[in-house]
Amino acid sequence: MEKEGLLIIMSGPSGVGKGTIRRQVMRDASLNLVYSISMTTRKKRKNEKDGLDYFFISDEQFDLLVANNDFLEWAEFVGHRYGTPKKYVDDLRKQGKNVLLEIEVEGTKQVLKKCRGSNVLSIYLIPPSFADLENRIRHRSTEPEHIMQKRLKKAQREMQLKHHYEHVVLNDNPQRAGKEIRTIIKNKINATLIK
Ligand code: 5GP
Repeated sequence: MEKEGLLIIMSGPSGVGKGTIRRQVMRDASLNLVYSISMTTRKKRKNEKDGLDYFFISDEQFDLLVANNDFLEWAEFVGHRYGTPKKYVDDLRKQGKNVLLEIEVEGTKQVLKKCRGSNVLSIYLIPPSFADLENRIRHRSTEPEHIMQKRLKKAQREMQLKHHYEHVVLNDNPQRAGKEIRTIIKNKINATLIK
């Protein structure tokens, strides 16, 4: 029987550069990773694709998935809901794939509680400074000012919760941070192989 794949959680405040690092980490074929595409009720941004960045769904569709217990975890973030499809993640892990989740802290807490004892790895990305983060969120400028303000406040609160994670990685440079994350994942894969 195939050994069950790892569940790898990557979190970090809005604007820290999760997407860039994720794409870099995913390019390393030796990690045998699959990215879990989340469902969200948030509106699609200009540069995003449905079914690639997220599955963009209505509030009613989201309610139905919650009622059917179809989410491994879900949470609200700045006025919208986001959730991880359970069956997709379970099936891939059963096939021996390592599944990467890019989720926020409340969802992480749910996963850590549910999957205790299972092979879970959690990583929190932090920016070099809050000023740097603010700069990046403003630079991205995909949201109106009041939403950016909410995201910045949320980022400040979220960063206080990084102790829930096994690893905290500084994104001082995406290349370097990506390399550090690849090493963390490789070490975990090796540790589970010899278990
Ligand atoms: P954004 O709107 O910037 O794409 O994402 C907002 C936040 O929601 C980010 O912290 C992102 O990691 C998180 N997120 C994305 N998908 C999920 C999910 O399926 N579950 C949870 N709990 N958070 C998610």
